[in-house]
Formats: sequence, structure tokens, C-alpha cells
Amino acid sequence: MPEQPRSRRQTRAAILTHLLQSGGTFRPPLAKAVRLSEASLSRILFDLKAEGLIEEVRRPAPYVGGPTALVSLDGSVALAAFELSTQRLSVGVGSLSGELHYTEHVPLPKRPTVESVGRAFREAMTLLRDWTRRRRITLAQIGVSVPGLGRLSVSGNPIIPCDVDRLRDMFGQTFAGVPIDFTNSVVAHATFHRCRTENYPFSGTHLFVFVSHGVAGAWMDDPAEADALQPIELGHMVFGPDGPRCRCGHHGCVEAYTSLQALAELLGVSEIELLRLGYEWANAIPLSSRVRQELRRRLFRLGLAIGNTLNVKPCGGVAISGWPSLLAEDDRKAVIEGIDACLLGGRKLAQVSLAFVPPSTGNDPQAALAFAAFCLARSGGMPAASTEAA
Ligand SMILES: [Zn+2]
Repeated sequence: MPEQPRSRRQTRAAILTHLLQSGGTFRPPLAKAVRLSEASLSRILFDLKAEGLIEEVRRPAPYVGGPTALVSLDGSVALAAFELSTQRLSVGVGSLSGELHYTEHVPLPKRPTVESVGRAFREAMTLLRDWTRRRRITLAQIGVSVPGLGRLSVSGNPIIPCDVDRLRDMFGQTFAGVPIDFTNSVVAHATFHRCRTENYPFSGTHLFVFVSHGVAGAWMDDPAEADALQPIELGHMVFGPDGPRCRCGHHGCVEAYTSLQALAELLGVSEIELLRLGYEWANAIPLSSRVRQELRRRLFRLGLAIGNTLNVKPCGGVAISGWPSLLAEDDRKAVIEGIDACLLGGRKLAQVSLAFVPPSTGNDPQAALAFAAFCLARSGGMPAASTEAA
């Protein structure tokens, strides 16, 4: 199949997203990865370097006579991140490679409203504006992560009340001219894992499942595509109308059985205690055989939800991040059994490979920062209004 010609923006986006995901590479493999001749690549790298988006650092050659200049994203580009979670709004400034230079947390009331969330954003924006002004830092991109954000919930968010249109206006007034993108928190976490996890298990199309305060999924596609990241409401698949009440208002959603809150209740600890234990909870909290059995039943349900999703849209890979990743392989098996039990043809026949990646809850605003980096890379580092030239 002949290749579609790419615009200048698309070619630059392919280079920058590759550098973002690889963390840096030599010119020959970069040219190969983005399907350019070394001469064409050299011309584009010259521009990107002049614009301060990339840098080249001398490194020992990987083999005798090999290249010695490692191309990577420029460490001086400043990005801002806002990450909304159940207890707080986090704001930060960081680099394209994920280094945080500034972080602040604004607490949210126990029952947040559109007004109190708006006030928290106003406070965080003021903190950010003062911090960047004092240091004369110009932001290249702002990324905002909001749980439950979807096409139906722009102003009526069922998870955390939040009026995105109003927030967008506030950002426009406080940070005029800085590109800003909002996304669902599952997309931000998926981006974080894909860009920041060394040896992330998938490079092609796959399903990312995030099991945290909520349970959600995202389709991950070629990062240079416009719809590379699509959130899906996998967590609100209803398994029993008589089941526990879910925060979406329905009963018996898979999220109501497998969210962090549901897990805390099952284990008989508070959610705060569970978060405090972090990666250690699976070792720190002894499980009775009754609890372990119930845990496996719930993981099996999570597997059913994932399998059903793959029945609707088949794909070859699933990455699961969140508390199930911390369990022993024997307990995690229940997820795989659930997938097998409902995926048409079973996991083997459908050729689905599965990987558990570590949880990323509690590292806010790292996920929003990774999303901001992704947005800048995907735009090819070109403002939206600039003219397209092939
Ligand atoms: Zn629900």
C-alpha cells in the first residue's frame, strides 16, 4: 500500500512522539522509526533544535564507528500540569522528560461542587502564574486531567463536578496564548505509562485498563493519529442491578466491585490507609480465605468486563494498571479467567496478550504532565493556527 504523504506537522509529530516514548535515540534508528531519509531527518532536526524543542548530546557510540550524538527532547521546555483527583487538585511545572520542578496541592472539600472545584482551579492557576512569573518561565503547553471527562459530561461530570468550558475560559484569561488540552484521567495515566515506563509492553494498538478510584479504559493507537487515545467507560458495565451502588448512580457496575474504595471495604481498612500502604498493601494486609475468594470473584468480573470490551472491539493487547497488578500471580489469574470466560474464542484463540503494569495512583500531577508532553509532541511543536506545509 503506498504511503499517505505527511504534512510538516505530522512528520514533526512523528519525530517528537517517538522521542517522547523512547526517551532519546541516535539519528539512524530515529530515521528508520519515522520513515525518513537521514538527509530529510537532518533538515527537520535542524529546525526543531533552533526552536528549542530537541537537543543532541554526545554519547559513547553503541558500536565501533556508530553514531555518537543522542537526539532527545530539550530539557528546558516548561510544561504545566493540573490533575484533579477525589481529594485534591495538583498543579505542577515540569519538563518533557517528566522531571517536576514545582508541585503544589490544593485540597478539595469532601463533597465537591462545580463552584468549589472552580475555586480550587482558580487558586492553583494563581499559584502557577506567580511561580512562572517570578522565574520568567514561558509555558509551552498546559495539560489538564479530569476523572470521568467524556463527551457526555463536559459540564455535567458524574464523577467530580466540574465545568470544563468555564475552566477553559479561566485558563485563557490567566495564561493567554498557551495551548491547553483537557483529558480524562485514564487517558492521562495511559499516556504516563506509555511515555515513562521503561520497556512498556505494547507499541501498537492496545487496550489500557486503569483500576484505581474508578475503573476505566482507553484505546491506545498510533500516537501520531488524531484519535490516538480514546477513553471508554469500561468500569460502568453493570453486572447485577441489585449490586452495590456505584458513584455513577447505577448499581452493580464493575467499578462498584473493584474500585479502591470497594477494595478497602472488602479488606476492612480505610481507603486512606490503603493508599498509605501503597505498593505494600498486598503483603501488609493478611487475607482470610473468605476475603481472598471474594477478591478473586471480583477480579473475575473485571476480566469479564475486559473480555466484553474486546468482543466489541478486538485488539491484540491489554495493559492493566492499578491494585490488581500488585497481587500474586495466583490471584491475578482470576482476571485472565474472566477474560477467557467471555472473550469469543478465548484469549489464546483471539491472540490477546496481557500485561500487568504498576499502579500510578498518588503520583499526581505526573500523569497530567505526561499528557501535556504528549499534546506538545503530537502538535509537532507548532501552534494550532500555524499554516500547514508539506
Ligand atoms: Zn457505575
